[in-house]
Amino acid sequence: MSANGQTRALLADQVDTDRLVKTFLELVAVDSPTGHEEEIGKELIKRFTDLGCSVSQDEIGNVFAVYSGTRPDTVLLSTHMDTAGKDVGIKPIIEDGIIKTDGSTILGADDKSGIAGCLELLTLLRSNQDVKHPAIEFVISVGEESGLVGSRQMDLSRLNASYGFVMDTAGVIGAVTYWAPTSVYLTIELHGKKVHAGVEPEKGINAVKVAAEAIAVMPLGRIDEETVANIGTIAGGEARNIVPGEVVLEGMARSHDQEKLDAQLAAMRSAVSEAAERHGATFDFDTEEIYRTYKIDESERPYREAARAIETLGIEVFPRKSGGGTDGNFFNAKGIPCVALATGMVDEHAATEHIAIEDMVMACKILVTIVTQEPE
Ligand SMILES: [Zn+2]
Repeated sequence: MSANGQTRALLADQVDTDRLVKTFLELVAVDSPTGHEEEIGKELIKRFTDLGCSVSQDEIGNVFAVYSGTRPDTVLLSTHMDTAGKDVGIKPIIEDGIIKTDGSTILGADDKSGIAGCLELLTLLRSNQDVKHPAIEFVISVGEESGLVGSRQMDLSRLNASYGFVMDTAGVIGAVTYWAPTSVYLTIELHGKKVHAGVEPEKGINAVKVAAEAIAVMPLGRIDEETVANIGTIAGGEARNIVPGEVVLEGMARSHDQEKLDAQLAAMRSAVSEAAERHGATFDFDTEEIYRTYKIDESERPYREAARAIETLGIEVFPRKSGGGTDGNFFNAKGIPCVALATGMVDEHAATEHIAIEDMVMACKILVTIVTQEPE
């Protein structure tokens, strides 16, 4: 390894476990269930400003922090400040090197482990000003857990980054998520005809029956290697003695292959349309694309740079295809190629969520190495 190489490896070696854990625990202590990010937003503005970034916030609460580079180029580092669900008052416990909760709430390692890593990176860059690195645009979004709400509404013209990394996935350390699916939300309204079920049922059109027949033949669950689909909620009807006139179904479909997804949506739609037609009912079939698939080839820059850093630290690179999206789907769709990296989080969104301190430290070392390694 060159003299420069040794310097770079040393910067990653300066990741301070106690400081990183302390930062993480402080972030976890600030309640931030998705949709309620005001307090954590203020905390992050303060921290990134104190660490030398120029910080701004958009109307919906996304925080942008820019740290000047000491060499040309700009890299995007993406995290999100909201946590899944409604849990507040999270009380972390450390046991045998693992940070977890008492089991009554999530931990919020998704994605505060990612943010803590970014803050540690900044701390190291500040105290090692001779280390060369590109300008860094930290984007910390709101509403990620409610369908990438923050990134979808973000004005990307304010960013200069030519590529980026999303610090926001589970999976083993060394995992590089290069392929994520498209996700579509479905809302299906069935309109039958409401009548008195005891007096004149023959004049009605039972929307529950239409829904049942549609769902019974609809392809659902795992469709193929790339595609899944679900009907998750069903609501309708008014009383036991009324033929139900309205039913609403909510569901979703995802695929890593856009054509397969389109075929799946068409199959779901025709199941509805055939059932409706048999009974003389009508329907609305609404789809909303929440995020779009991306696939980053291993020859592309974010993949190459992540892989190089991971290997420098003596870890194996695991190419990972994810079942869900991140803000990275949005950045990729808008022309900033990104891969997503593991932060060490395990069982995210569950009361068993936890993170090994060792993994959080290694994820941070990978981040530091990516940013400070010599350009190709
Ligand atoms: Zn997340």
